[in-house]
Amino acid sequence: MRQPLIAGNWKLHGTLQQIAELLAGMRARLSIVKAAELAICPPFIYIGYVRQLLDGVDISLGAQDCSDQHRGAYTGEVAAAMLREYDCKYVIIGHSERRHIYAESDQTTAIKFEQVKNNGLTPILCVGETLQQRNQGDTEAVIDRQLNAILKRSGIAGFERAIIAYEPVWAIGTGQTATPAQAQQVHQFIRHKLNAAHKNIAENIRILYGGSMRPGNARQLLEQSDIDGGLIGGASLKAEDFIDIAVAAN
Ligand code: PEP
Repeated sequence: MRQPLIAGNWKLHGTLQQIAELLAGMRARLSIVKAAELAICPPFIYIGYVRQLLDGVDISLGAQDCSDQHRGAYTGEVAAAMLREYDCKYVIIGHSERRHIYAESDQTTAIKFEQVKNNGLTPILCVGETLQQRNQGDTEAVIDRQLNAILKRSGIAGFERAIIAYEPVWAIGTGQTATPAQAQQVHQFIRHKLNAAHKNIAENIRILYGGSMRPGNARQLLEQSDIDGGLIGGASLKAEDFIDIAVAAN
């Protein structure tokens, strides 16, 4: 039985005051969440602050990225080991904004994935195609390539304590969600691919959907047999919407 995970990616948003209000709003409604695990991924600078605010609150903490390096002269970087010191459980890796805006390759993503695993944290590996790739019929080839980079470096064992998020790039922040059938088709493809290498890992891995998930469309997406939760951008900045999405998994 895979417990649904609803993870919020706050991206480059939030002030101390907004974060305090957002978390107060989530805490006030937390008791109506029955089935899902909740996680939030604030910007690095706020991780210590959010850790304090989450004391005694049943919401996991995650980061939006980490360095591909462990330590050393790498100005501006944050290592997975540092995130571990702040009790982060999850680290988002290979988000399309990292891949496309910051030109992170499949290989860099695979190294970061390995760093996260080596430090005992759980990577949330994002994969997904652009609209052009979808229109050319290349969706599965793109996902295949992105997964193969991880398999090449970490082997199938790398996916043993990991999460995958299928995030069609054209659905992120656009309000244009994949239909439940479109999402399910890709989730099933991912699970089948892993199944060919290791049945148990494929059965147990949680595959989240991300891309304009909202309270109004969450239930239909989460009802699909291979969709095990959501990676939520915009709607995770509104306490009510975020909790309503989690309730859709009840
Ligand atoms: C994301 O950035 O991971 C995401 C899914 O964003 P949004 O929900 O805003 O589309």
